[in-house]
Amino acid sequence: MKHTIAIIGSGFSALSASCYLRKYGYDVSVYEKNDTVGGRARQLKQKGFTFDIGPSWYWMPDIFEKFFNDFGKKTSDYYTLDKLDPAYKIFFKDEVITIGDTMDKICAEFDRIEPGSSKPLRQFIAKAATNYDIAINKVVLKPGVSPFELVTPETAVRVGQFFKTISGDVRRKFKNPKLISTLEFPVLFLGAKPSNTPAFYSFMNYADFGLGTWHPKGGMYEVIKAMKSLATTLGVHIHTNNTIEKIHVEGKTATALSINGSLKTFDIILSGADYHHSETLLDEVHRQYTPAYWDKKTFAPSSLLFYIGFNKKIERVEHHNLFFDTNFETHAEDIYDTPQWPKDPLFYANFPSVTDASMAPEGCETGFFLIPIAPGIEDTPQLRAHYFDIILARFEKLTQQNVKNNIIFKSSFCIKDFMKDYNSYKGNAYGMANTLSQTAFLRPKLKSKKVNNLYFTGQLTVPGPGVPPALISGKLVSELIYKHHSH
Ligand SMILES: Cc1cc2nc3c(=O)[nH]c(=O)nc-3n(C[C@H](O)[C@H](O)[C@H](O)COP(=O)(O)OP(=O)(O)OC[C@H]3O[C@@H](n4cnc5c(N)ncnc54)[C@H](O)[C@@H]3O)c2cc1C
Repeated sequence: MKHTIAIIGSGFSALSASCYLRKYGYDVSVYEKNDTVGGRARQLKQKGFTFDIGPSWYWMPDIFEKFFNDFGKKTSDYYTLDKLDPAYKIFFKDEVITIGDTMDKICAEFDRIEPGSSKPLRQFIAKAATNYDIAINKVVLKPGVSPFELVTPETAVRVGQFFKTISGDVRRKFKNPKLISTLEFPVLFLGAKPSNTPAFYSFMNYADFGLGTWHPKGGMYEVIKAMKSLATTLGVHIHTNNTIEKIHVEGKTATALSINGSLKTFDIILSGADYHHSETLLDEVHRQYTPAYWDKKTFAPSSLLFYIGFNKKIERVEHHNLFFDTNFETHAEDIYDTPQWPKDPLFYANFPSVTDASMAPEGCETGFFLIPIAPGIEDTPQLRAHYFDIILARFEKLTQQNVKNNIIFKSSFCIKDFMKDYNSYKGNAYGMANTLSQTAFLRPKLKSKKVNNLYFTGQLTVPGPGVPPALISGKLVSELIYKHHSH
């Protein structure tokens, strides 16, 4: 008899785990509460515009490739990748920095801003490349069970980099504030302030400048479609519109799930839903982490998002654009130190139809605007409207054009939607931040300490936030399940 495994949710980590577990021979069923798979990476199609609801930066292409290779496939069997050139543009108050698709182009841009800065940049990226190799090929593939996993010959000699911050490291080498912001940007994906992120995480800078920014034609949802197709071909049963209401436990064993009001039994349960929510599906006695535990943790930001359809092409923008024309430190304080709506928010704007015509009707532009905000703050229609006006006015000024009267589709997504659609803790967007005290074995565990056959995966556990880590998380938990429950 094959063990039966139920997976709660269908985000990147759950879909990844479903494929690995099926490969190990388990009978795997995925239950997703929403009407489509993909979790935070779902897709919105309206009036001919295609929007990725969540992730839009395709970084670390090697990790996607390795995922499909594990099943004898290649990414190109499912979708076409374009390397973006430029990768992105950063708008400062009085200047624009353009990040090209090669180190040579990026070095020339650094030298333009701060003559001679390409020399320390090359050194910084060379070190970041070594860190990437260690992090991705050695450290990140560990299940976060023991502190000794972090101790490898390579990390032992770099222990100092775990106690220095990326912010300090960058500031030691670069003096120009714009270059400092440029180099601090990649670690924002890890969910914490650069001044609270270990210097070792400069591997994100290698992911940025060394490996480049890619775009799957049709958008990030093409990756979800590819994984769904792979899972289905492998024999995974996928059920959408299926909400898990309770995880039933007898003694120390999870026995069944309440799904849309009916009871189904399974041998093993894996939750790819937000960790905090997953534990609330258990009776209190079986939960590992208390409300105080979650409250103390540094969560990655939430976001105020706008999906905008424009009836004309937008000038002077690239596929990815960062608007760093206000003070980053002040905005970061409003996210992490005294959670409140930021007065002058930084924001990100994405126009995938600049490079991919399939994502908007002819002559139109698909726009996605993101303001990072503190999780758990007030979310009202008035606040959303107020912030839309603020960023649109700045956008028009910095890109020197009027776009307000060219909006033919508009939708927003914020804290309340994150909570309603994904059962997200305080409406966080990217899970739990990767700070030193929330790294590896210090993160919520893949395997429940209280229930023998209950497991967790996704951005709140190891390795952390982001799509590539979610793919890895699904692999790690599958290996752990196989180790404990092979036939
Ligand atoms: C706006 C935004 C932008 C981002 N940008 C990037 C980016 O550019 N690049 C990048 O790499 N990463 C990015 N990220 C992060 C990345 O999207 C996430 O880290 C990743 O998608 C998380 O996947 P996951 O599997 O952990 O969880 P999720 O995608 O959250 O999946 C969890 C699933 O569980 C389901 N679920 C919850 N409760 C239940 C229940 N009771 N019953 C059944 N199902 C349930 C949910 O509906 C959801 O489908 C972004 C995230 C957001 C929100």
